[in-house]
Amino acid sequence: MTEGVRLVMLGRQGAGKGTQAIRLAQHYVVPHISTGDMLRAAVAAGTEFGLKAKEVMDAGGLVSDDIMVGVVDERLHQSDTTGRGYILDGFPRTVAQAESLAAITADRPLEVVVNLEVPEDVVAERITKRRVCRTCGHIYSVDAPPKHGWICDVDGGEVVQRADDTAEAVRKRLDLYAAETLPLVPFYAERGLLVEIDGLGSTDEVFERIFAAIDARR
Ligand code: AMP
Repeated sequence: MTEGVRLVMLGRQGAGKGTQAIRLAQHYVVPHISTGDMLRAAVAAGTEFGLKAKEVMDAGGLVSDDIMVGVVDERLHQSDTTGRGYILDGFPRTVAQAESLAAITADRPLEVVVNLEVPEDVVAERITKRRVCRTCGHIYSVDAPPKHGWICDVDGGEVVQRADDTAEAVRKRLDLYAAETLPLVPFYAERGLLVEIDGLGSTDEVFERIFAAIDARR
């Protein structure tokens, strides 16, 4: 079997990072840990925490660092991640989260951070066209829909537009990304972990670029 990997995916909303993260997780046989998916699961379960998170998410805001760090800390101590590794998608989103992540993973440090670079005008259009499976989170687009109506090819779930993919929430997320998340690019470059990938092109082309860049580092 291939070696595992401990990897963080960075990139603007809609840069295709979720799709690439899922493929990388399949390739390296490690869990795909999406904090957005974990929050959406809490929302769907209707927990008190989920209801609070939903308000923040629908407005395009960020859930507090304390909460997110707690969620990820717990997840990264489960045996599937302590063994082969993980693909972290959507975390860290702030420098404070990145510092906490370094502390959490001190004994098994992160190996690589992939930054998917896609211009803002392109991602804004992609997000508006994005549709996702309600149950498994598989990502489609108006230009690349499921085979049969809006029913997921993977698990038969209903394929819908995310509640936070409205124009206003998207604008807020892109602004927050520039203010809070972009500083992670120099943060990880200074630590020698950053790989910059051009995110334009087909899913296959971009995956090959990421895969080659990771392989070249090993
Ligand atoms: P995503 O699916 O990664 O786009 O996340 C959807 C929403 O969940 C974000 O817009 C935030 O409101 C929230 N969220 C996900 N991950 C984080 C995080 N690491 N820190 C703060 N908020 C987060």
